[in-house]
Amino acid sequence: MTLSGTNLEHAKLHNRRVVLETVRLHGKLTRAEIARLTHLTPQTVSNITRELEKAGWLKSHQPLRSGRGQPAIPLSIAPDGACSIGIHVDQGLLTLIVVDLAGHPLERHEITLPSSQPEQILSQVKKLLHKLRHSTEFDWEKLLGIGWVMPGPFDVEGITSEGPTTLHGWEKVNINNELEDEFHLPVWVANDATAAALGERLYGAATQLHSFVYLCINQGLGAGLYLNGQIYDGCSHNSGEIGHIIVQSDGRLCFCGNHGCLERYLSLQAAYEMCGLTGEKATPEGLLALDDEQLNLWLDSAIPATRQAINIIECLFDAQSIVIGGMIPEAILTKLVQRLSPLHRSVRSKLPDELRIRVGKTGRDAAPLGAAALPIMLIERALSQE
Ligand SMILES: [Zn+2]
Repeated sequence: MTLSGTNLEHAKLHNRRVVLETVRLHGKLTRAEIARLTHLTPQTVSNITRELEKAGWLKSHQPLRSGRGQPAIPLSIAPDGACSIGIHVDQGLLTLIVVDLAGHPLERHEITLPSSQPEQILSQVKKLLHKLRHSTEFDWEKLLGIGWVMPGPFDVEGITSEGPTTLHGWEKVNINNELEDEFHLPVWVANDATAAALGERLYGAATQLHSFVYLCINQGLGAGLYLNGQIYDGCSHNSGEIGHIIVQSDGRLCFCGNHGCLERYLSLQAAYEMCGLTGEKATPEGLLALDDEQLNLWLDSAIPATRQAINIIECLFDAQSIVIGGMIPEAILTKLVQRLSPLHRSVRSKLPDELRIRVGKTGRDAAPLGAAALPIMLIERALSQE
């Protein structure tokens, strides 16, 4: 898997990211190797790596001895060159992660949320951020920014504005202003499924893929699209809201008013309902406590709906693979994926099922890791401010 740069001057910022990501994927590379892998000219690579070294984001190693000419100097990511914060808000749970430039977690906090009221959640987050200013695990001064992710859709009234799988009351909250004013850090807000796709692309099961769809099984269901080496999040940041595609006409009534939406079969909420988990038992841990017979009450209806959704996704995007993850416990996800075979025929049928469908590797941290990657991915802004 290689990333291609371009030598046009106006694409300089894009090229910085390509160089950084190529080094991240390969560990250690010489300038000549970077040029070969990115199709950039040696001069362009030399200029970019000099800037990245000056910013403290790349570090050089012992020169490699070769027969002729200048010895080649391998470069790698300098993990402690910078860090960033990722925040994931879902029903009942707030996850905050601080990662270094290589994606290693430096701090991780998980807080149970008694309500999804924006004021209460923002106040919890601010309290935690004030505490982190004094952390000895990382240098607050090296923070590039905060990525905040939550379930979509954003600014859409109608199909998904009701029910227990969406967060309410956030339409009028300006998260950027709330945090930027108090902490003087840039903030990026995104859809959690899109961020989770980024998390898997950078650190998980999709590091070698240039096109994939990430199915994010949380309280509700969303999808993140990573196509041709880029995140695609739609014209209003609402791409991948696939929980409400109809997979069974006259199927189960959905909170949106339609019948037979995919989310009524494939989501944690659907699993809780089908397995009879209510109140405090309606949690991912509650599902883990069930035996196979009880779990099958849900899987028997989730499998045909999921197979149909996979057929639609494959025919629509012709992506290399579908990666499945989210807040769903890994042991249960593995059972679900094992039962998906045989998949329906599609444009991807030539591949074995285990390559068409992959289990995510970053587990429930995919979304917060992806959130933390947002400020790092937007490296151009940080460097261009110098
Ligand atoms: Zn629906």
